[in-house]
Amino acid sequence: MTGYQAFYQQSIDDPDTFWTREAERIHWHKPFDKVLEYDKPPFREWFAGGLTNLCYNAVDRHLEERGDQAALVYVSTETDSEISYTYRQLHEEVSRFAAIMQAQGVGKGDRVLIYMPMIAEAVFAMLATVRLGAIHSVVFGGFASASLATRIEDAAPKLLITADGGLRGGKVIAYKPLVDEALSLAGAAAPKKVILVNRGVAEAPMMKPGRDLDYGALREQHLNDRADVEWVESGHPSYILYTSGTTGKPKGVQRDTGGYAVALASSMEYIYGGRPGETFFSTSDIGWVVGHSYIVYAPLLCGMSTLVYEGLPVRPDPGIWWQLVEKHRVTVMFSAPTAIRVLKKQDPSWLHKYDLSSLRALFLAGEPLDEPTASWIGGELNVPVLDNYWQTETGWPMLTLCNGVGPQTVKIGSPGLPVYGFNVKLLNESTGEEVPAGEKGVIAVIPPLPPGCMSTVWGQDERFVNTYFSLLPDRLVYSSFDWGVRDENGYFTILGRTDDVINVAGHRLGTREIEEAVSGHSAIAEVAVVGVNDTLKGQVPQAFAVLKDPSVLQDPERRAALEKEVIAKVASQLGAIANPARVYFVNQLPKTRSGKVLRRSIQALAEGRDPGDLTTLDDPTGLEQVRDAVLQK
Ligand code: ATP
Ligand code: MG
Repeated sequence: MTGYQAFYQQSIDDPDTFWTREAERIHWHKPFDKVLEYDKPPFREWFAGGLTNLCYNAVDRHLEERGDQAALVYVSTETDSEISYTYRQLHEEVSRFAAIMQAQGVGKGDRVLIYMPMIAEAVFAMLATVRLGAIHSVVFGGFASASLATRIEDAAPKLLITADGGLRGGKVIAYKPLVDEALSLAGAAAPKKVILVNRGVAEAPMMKPGRDLDYGALREQHLNDRADVEWVESGHPSYILYTSGTTGKPKGVQRDTGGYAVALASSMEYIYGGRPGETFFSTSDIGWVVGHSYIVYAPLLCGMSTLVYEGLPVRPDPGIWWQLVEKHRVTVMFSAPTAIRVLKKQDPSWLHKYDLSSLRALFLAGEPLDEPTASWIGGELNVPVLDNYWQTETGWPMLTLCNGVGPQTVKIGSPGLPVYGFNVKLLNESTGEEVPAGEKGVIAVIPPLPPGCMSTVWGQDERFVNTYFSLLPDRLVYSSFDWGVRDENGYFTILGRTDDVINVAGHRLGTREIEEAVSGHSAIAEVAVVGVNDTLKGQVPQAFAVLKDPSVLQDPERRAALEKEVIAKVASQLGAIANPARVYFVNQLPKTRSGKVLRRSIQALAEGRDPGDLTTLDDPTGLEQVRDAVLQK
């Protein structure tokens, strides 16, 4: 067995030895008695009996060695500001914020809902919450009040922390009116206290006496107060986080403390190759799992500096990210394919204006990383581009290449191999048998799920079992609801969500396969393929494509010609069975706030149905374009 294979195999065959070693990466106030408690499958507790604290590990533990090193660098191109906090300053802000929360009655096990823009105080609030052993539920800032209300109802928080507003592309979104509306919708579950960070970007927020408190005033009042760390059991919940809602039903993922800290700390070495003292730049948002794991916790657990960026990738110009990489000597960067596609439409010379020699690798996650995008950015940056496949549920990557264990060969279009700890299998969903190389199957994980993965669905243990472990009737197997294929060397390719599989006359096709073929046409910038009901074939694929040159949209002849070319391209690559029945051209696709294509809504419109739950939809324009295209407007 080669280096990584042996390493991986030990994590599966001898998890006790493997994870005992990895657990040394964090501080245990009391050592654990048992690496894994697994007496009620699929529920499990990693590092049972151990006491630790996520905030202590992310902040306090570094004071001695790196108190004066930058811990958090906040950059906003929306307000044109930059503030850097050393570990010592971060410690001060966080332990003071925790004291402020404590004064409002927050303690171990209480929920704190954080509805904030990407500002440093949002990170302070998260760390302060876990410092007290309380549980945060971060809701993406700017989500509609109804979405916020359902998350308030689910978590019943004691405290809500918000700001006057957020900014996006220079446009102000006032948060407080949304919060007020959500609180009235949430009724009895609404928290009794709201702390508001007034950054002075929105109109003076209306403050409700007795309920709403101003953070600036509280901070003055508690200037010299500090809250101690609350040591919690390894299995104690650190947070609740809802999935992105691409399939329309966000699930409240509950994460533990000890397992999460160990998994993240290990991933920084084995997957990301980030080292203490270096700068990590994740372009995500704290409202998503990537933000939780790789803006906040993992870089800080490892003594790195983390860049917290509020702004767009193209504003003030498309060079902004690379300017930040140069200025802060970023070594590891994490983003999403959708953002890279945005940059790909810009002048590539922006990438070469800055000194990017510090950068060692770029990691991309969240959606399939298509070949043109991966090759383009890899070529421009001249660093390895690694595809990470994971989910809110898993908390950290489940498929990728662990170059920190030993160098691995990248296969473009594939995230790579199962990550240590994840016993990943591709199963035939009817027989439950493992499928051979080259055959499609459902991506599954044989439990126990490794450290870092969800403990349960918040408040709904039954839903955890029924949702994630019901793939097979006779065996507990975790289903990821994604569909994939493996090659002879064990490399996986994600073909799409199981919900999105297209069944054409008995042939099962992944949306991804057809999308790759369509986007291979040089005129196409981005595409979504959905299966649409067809009386003869069961389903037929339809493609909705964004053109690099939008002016073509106005030219019916050119459009018709392009449609034919695209169809011919798919046929030559995948065979006629995969041929899109139609290729529609649009300027924009409907996406979730986290940048994922809402295929289910496109499919509904294509079938003349209602597009369904749109609470996580980012911008209605994309949806309208799909509707118009289908109606041939
Ligand atoms: P919901 O579960 O509420 O529908 P969601 O699945 O979009 O929302 P996330 O947890 O943010 O919520 O996304 C995880 C999903 O994103 C994966 O299950 C997979 O479908 C997709 N995904 C993530 N990374 C990759 C990747 N590298 N390649 C392909 N697909 C990916
Ligand atoms: Mg999901």
